[in-house]
Formats: sequence, structure tokens, C-alpha cells
Amino acid sequence: MSVERATAERQQELVDNYDAVKQQVDDAAQGSSHKPRLVAVSKLKPSSDILALYDHGVRNFGENYPQELEQKAKELPNDIQWHFIGALQSNKAKMLASIPNLFAVETLTSTKAANTLNSTCASLTPPRQDALNVFIQLNTSGEESKSGLAVPPPALSSETNNNEDATSHELYKLAHHVVVNCPNLRLKGLMTIGSIDASFQHGADAVNPDFDKLTKARDWLQSSLERQLDQQTNTEEADELKRAVQGLRPLELSMGMSEDFAEAIKQGSSNVRVGSKIFGARPPRKTA
Ligand SMILES: *Cc1c(COP(=O)(O)O)cnc(C)c1O
Repeated sequence: MSVERATAERQQELVDNYDAVKQQVDDAAQGSSHKPRLVAVSKLKPSSDILALYDHGVRNFGENYPQELEQKAKELPNDIQWHFIGALQSNKAKMLASIPNLFAVETLTSTKAANTLNSTCASLTPPRQDALNVFIQLNTSGEESKSGLAVPPPALSSETNNNEDATSHELYKLAHHVVVNCPNLRLKGLMTIGSIDASFQHGADAVNPDFDKLTKARDWLQSSLERQLDQQTNTEEADELKRAVQGLRPLELSMGMSEDFAEAIKQGSSNVRVGSKIFGARPPRKTA
């Protein structure tokens, strides 16, 4: 582990930026019972930057590219809690889950990737101390450039709706699969990127429709899972599911980035992912 040190000037800059963002996070969360987690998104930034914040007490860092994350995890302290927030390809799931201090994969969208993460975690020596947290990513803005599962249509969220409709939705199916079939994973919550435009279209106190959709999808998912197990009493699967689902409540919401994290927190975010406001503008990926 021989990571170069950032200059004293750079260290100070990072600490000042981080503290300013942290203050805004705390201000936005005032009056609410939850304390959001601030994930410092360090993609394309050098390990020396991460170490400077680590020395300041920061432990949650987010990365987008599997190779870059693997490299940084090797050379940086092993009590960092890494969040993988990039596009998740099934063929990279094994490498990611082999990182012992990977805290969360925030971009799960397929049962195939879930199975690989789960089986990789099961095979690690030494074994992981905790289940690997996963967030299911939703495409709340419907933009083609964004990945994520579709948001459940509003009709499905009505309480009177037949749960059969709910259980055939892809979000329900993936969540159910993780809870029932992936003992080495913990369904931690839902994640979205959301449209940046949506964050700016409205006044300061307006509601961002993408964040609203994620919140509603979370509430829908929780109640659908719970309703489903109320219907299937006395099966082994129902008991298992019941225990698992009760332990999940409340599912978290990962939403909010540099430009909109304060709004996201006001709308219930428990996990914000902030990059450029802490580290400054990023270089283009190719030259990094
Ligand atoms: C890059 C990235 C961020 C951080 O973006 P900033 O606007 O720099 O804060 C957050 N979430 C995801 C998924 C990202 O890819």
C-alpha cells in the first residue's frame, strides 16, 4: 500500500469541499429522523484524493468502473466502504463481489447479476462479515441513456389492486428473488439517477418527479412484498420471506447528486452520491 500523498493544498481543498457538502446534507436533513449517508464519488480521481478524505474520517466512497475500483480497493485502507454505482454487467459481477470491503452495489437490474454476486460472496475466503448490500436501480426519468428497471405504473400502487399484478412486475420479481434466493445479499433499497433537467425545472421547494417516483416505488415494493406473504401463510418460503422483509424496513432511497442532493434529501433520500462538488470537475474518461 504505497499511495502518494496529495499536496497540503489539495488536501485542504478536498476537506473544505467535503465539509461544505456535509453541512448542506445535515441542513437538508434537519427535522427529519433519518441521517443520510454521504457517498463521496471518486471515479476518475486519484487514490491520493481518497486518502486525503479518508484521513479526515470519510469512509463511504463511490466508483463507476470495476477495474478502477478493484485497483483502488487494493491500494487503499480496507475499512473503506466502497459503493459500486456504475453500469453493472454480469461479467463484472464476480470481480466486484470479490472485493472484500465492497459495501454496496447500487445498480442491480438483473437476476443474473444478483446470482453471480451472491455465489461469489458465498465462495470468498475469508468469508464476508456481512451480506453485500444491493440497491435495485430504477429508470425514473424514462430516458433511454439511463439504465434501470421501469417504475411500477401508478395503477399498481393502489391498495385495492390485485397483488397478482404486482408480483408480475420486474421490480417485484427481482426484489423477491434477492430476498428469497440470495442469502449473501441484503436488499438495501432503490436507486435512481433521475433527470437533471427535472431538478431545475421547478422552484426551490418544488418536488422532483423522479425522486417522487422512486419514493412511491419503494412504498409500493414494501407493501407488495408484505401483502404477498400475508397471503401465503404457513409455507416455509413465506416464513423466510417474512423474516427477511421485516428486517428490510424501511428500504433506503439512493438519490441525489452534486446538483440536487439537498432536494433529494428533503424528499426522503437516505444515500446521496456526490462527486464534482467534492472533488471538482472530472477529466474525460479516456485520459484518466
Ligand atoms: C458520477 C455519478 C455521481 C456523481 O455525480 P456528480 O454530479 O459529480 O455529483 C452520482 N451517481 C452516479 C450514478 C454517477 O455515475
